[in-house]
Amino acid sequence: MPEDGEGRERARPVATALWAVHSGKRSDSTMQTTAHSAVSTGAFAMVADRRYTNRVIIRARTVVTMDGVSIENGAVAVSRNRIDDSPSRSSPSRAARLCRAAPAGSVVDVGKFDELKKRNAGEIVDLGEQALLPGLINAHCHLDYTCLRGKIPPQRTFADWIRAINAEKARLLPKDYLSSINEGFAEAKRFGTTTVANLTAFPDLIPQIHAPIRTWWFPELIDVRAPKYANEIADLAIESLKPAQNWGLAPHALFTASKNLYECCEEIARVENVLLTTHLAESREEMEMFRDSSGPLYEFLKGIGRPMDDCGNKTPLELFVDLIGRGGSPNRPQAIEVNRLYLPWIVAHLNELAESDFELLENAKVQFHVVHCPRSHGYFKHRQFPFQRLHSLGFNICLGTDSLASNENLSLFAEMRAFQRSQPGISPDEILKMATVNPAMALHREKMIGRIRPGFCADLIAIPSGQGPNLFEEIVGFEGQLDRVMVNGKM
Ligand SMILES: [Zn+2]
Repeated sequence: MPEDGEGRERARPVATALWAVHSGKRSDSTMQTTAHSAVSTGAFAMVADRRYTNRVIIRARTVVTMDGVSIENGAVAVSRNRIDDSPSRSSPSRAARLCRAAPAGSVVDVGKFDELKKRNAGEIVDLGEQALLPGLINAHCHLDYTCLRGKIPPQRTFADWIRAINAEKARLLPKDYLSSINEGFAEAKRFGTTTVANLTAFPDLIPQIHAPIRTWWFPELIDVRAPKYANEIADLAIESLKPAQNWGLAPHALFTASKNLYECCEEIARVENVLLTTHLAESREEMEMFRDSSGPLYEFLKGIGRPMDDCGNKTPLELFVDLIGRGGSPNRPQAIEVNRLYLPWIVAHLNELAESDFELLENAKVQFHVVHCPRSHGYFKHRQFPFQRLHSLGFNICLGTDSLASNENLSLFAEMRAFQRSQPGISPDEILKMATVNPAMALHREKMIGRIRPGFCADLIAIPSGQGPNLFEEIVGFEGQLDRVMVNGKM
């Protein structure tokens, strides 16, 4: 949830060792690391050997590609160096041919182990009875507040929760946030998350952080106490974020960020081609505030001096749809060529929608990505998330953990299970998409992460897999932490 700030990033995955050695942990009895030579004679063998040393082949009982059927006794070849990874005179798969100049840390081939090892060679890592999956993607979290785990019991109102977290934050120093963020990264990775969309209220800490997973940094922007400075707040954010690899902007919520701040962020996103995220229609109190000019959140914000002239008329969604897709300039109200699938907005929550909101979404020219945070949702006791209705309207729906000020850990597996409990009709493979394929699309990286496919980043995780009848049920049911998490080809 909360806070203001502006930021920059150094979101480069930092990793140390290739995933090509024994870890000394489980499944070692079935794991072998060998030098495989598919080509054994003549000059070609020498050429091939030189090339082949740049690959590692990971074999698993099942490779869950999220890209068609899963592959029993499957394997993935991962490039280690930036070279032409395709062995000359070999007969690589069509997929392998498509990515001849494979960047280091990318998948170069996927298939049945027996076939893949004929067209690739190099070190083989046999994971044994494991399922190999794309790393999970957390589409909404706040690692700032990892240290607030268990500190705030559920409150009577959402406004009370904001008061409670503000009181906790008043006790924290920058060094506390720094360790909180670092601990959050480590925990997320232990739970198999290899990419995170992380909102931060303290972007000035980012240069001190070596993110161990792929990170989109979103400085959380609030101007509720300084609406005249919306432009300055946004400008400061964009200045500090410019050197970053993956970033966006997060005007916090309609009740804490002004219309002007949203418009500034949209304009920056349009010019810089970056993403935007925000909290929208999260609580009943937010609906009450904007539609009815009443309720605890209305009173709280009025009490701190927020101008309340946008209240009493429209639902949060109506206000948001009025704001977005306009390029930030009142002179060009429809300047952005709207592409329904590729608006830059990733909208967290969307729990509270009026019937008129669904009509609006059906008729609106705009569409955005949606993040649902099942366990944070349960903590706040929001009404049922309207998954089916949003899904049938074509929205891309992802999962996130939100912060540990309203959740117990950063496991997306636990989020998938919580979602499954609340929506038992949704198949487990659809649920797994909400933590892989769907958030990759939300981050506009659907050709890079979220699947195991040649040319994609080698962001891979492995979990034990038995003979169960439903592989995806087994995956969603996985509890515990992971021994093997690969980010960009490295552990
Ligand atoms: Zn949040």
